[in-house]
Amino acid sequence: QQARALNSLSFDESSSVISKNSRYVAGGVNSNFRLGMAPGPLVFKRGEGAYLFDVDGNRLIDYYCGMGAMVLGHSPAGVQAAVKAQVDEGILFAGQSEVEFEAARMICERIPSAQRIRFGSSGSEVAQAAMRLARAATGRSKIIKFEGHYHGWFDNVLWSTAPALADAGPAEAPVPVGGSRGQSRLDLEDLVILGWNDLAALEARVSKGDIAAVMMEPAMCNQGAISPAPGYLEGAQAICRKHGTLLVFDEVITGFRLGRGGAQERFGVTPDISLFAKAIANGFPVAAIVGRADLIDMFATGGVLHGGTFNAQPVAMAATVATQAALTPEHYEKSSVFGVRLREGMREELAAAGIKAQVTGFELMFHVAFGLDAPAKTYRDLARADKAGYARFTLALLKQGVRALERGAWFVSSEHNDDVVDQTLAAVRIAAREVAS
Ligand code: PLP
Repeated sequence: QQARALNSLSFDESSSVISKNSRYVAGGVNSNFRLGMAPGPLVFKRGEGAYLFDVDGNRLIDYYCGMGAMVLGHSPAGVQAAVKAQVDEGILFAGQSEVEFEAARMICERIPSAQRIRFGSSGSEVAQAAMRLARAATGRSKIIKFEGHYHGWFDNVLWSTAPALADAGPAEAPVPVGGSRGQSRLDLEDLVILGWNDLAALEARVSKGDIAAVMMEPAMCNQGAISPAPGYLEGAQAICRKHGTLLVFDEVITGFRLGRGGAQERFGVTPDISLFAKAIANGFPVAAIVGRADLIDMFATGGVLHGGTFNAQPVAMAATVATQAALTPEHYEKSSVFGVRLREGMREELAAAGIKAQVTGFELMFHVAFGLDAPAKTYRDLARADKAGYARFTLALLKQGVRALERGAWFVSSEHNDDVVDQTLAAVRIAAREVAS
């Protein structure tokens, strides 16, 4: 299939299933982030390794990787077996199970900031827990978040996330831009939006003494793949400590992807609180809030409520243990080689086709932006990229059997081996020439 002629794949059956089922499911999708790209939402039957198989009979090399969750690729045998075994033992106890304590121990041993942990079910949800905790711990109400950083879809954080920047004001004093109709503006009382990677702006605002927490992606990966400026994370930590503000790292994407200990281990800065989801359980709905023991213990003894029917659900916990067991140092070494080959190959192929593009990022996650002269340092730089040109490229790639996110992110798993990278780069060559002509 992969070797079929240029632009041969058809997605008609997906389109037909979506249109038939839109009478039940709004837009045919259960997350707005799946509405996106041409030729419309796809419908899948099966995932295996680096591949997804759709209802049209196409085999697609998948670089969505469950929006970053599938760090081991699709259907890894160890996770499948652990999950099946746990299903036989029971699905939900509304009580504790040994498997959740095993999962907790593994995460706490791996993540530098994790003295204690509480599990949840989604990144959005644990971000809420972090803000509540920070407010309780400091007695302050305001939270700083940064332009372009995403901490979930709830009203109080869905600001200046991926907006058009037309009405976002000057970079030094960003005007909050909502991410959805229907959002309460009351939440803005407690939210301060700043530009990231700017220590002077952070110091100026935090030093007023009314900030409970500074929340950030330690490397900005939901939009682009932008590293912290040298000294930025250390500086942010020092500013927070000086003014009694808590530092929260949202590692929902970076966790278990920039390395086993996340961005905090890679960059050597240990926040007070951190958030994990996505790759923690290779596709099972698991999230975690971890951090200093005195803070996380406030959920138990400090009057801070944290609940959830599905928290630490045993089947998801079995997936967590099996995923963490597979995330060995060798896993990172092996998959990094593939990721770097792909990233560098991508850069070469795009240049050879005469496309101006910036390829930035890490081994298991990188980002491609068309039309920029230099790598983006901020979200505002990224907003100047040629999004329409890149969308044409991802459509051309899809027709060649490679599924990559329209927003430019590429997620690599340990299943994206040399053979898969070769196939991908061959498709990139064809797609790049097509859009360049
Ligand atoms: N934080 C970051 C950095 C994310 O990228 C995401 C999701 O993409 C979230 C939080 C929200 O996680 P979830 O989609 O599991 O609610």
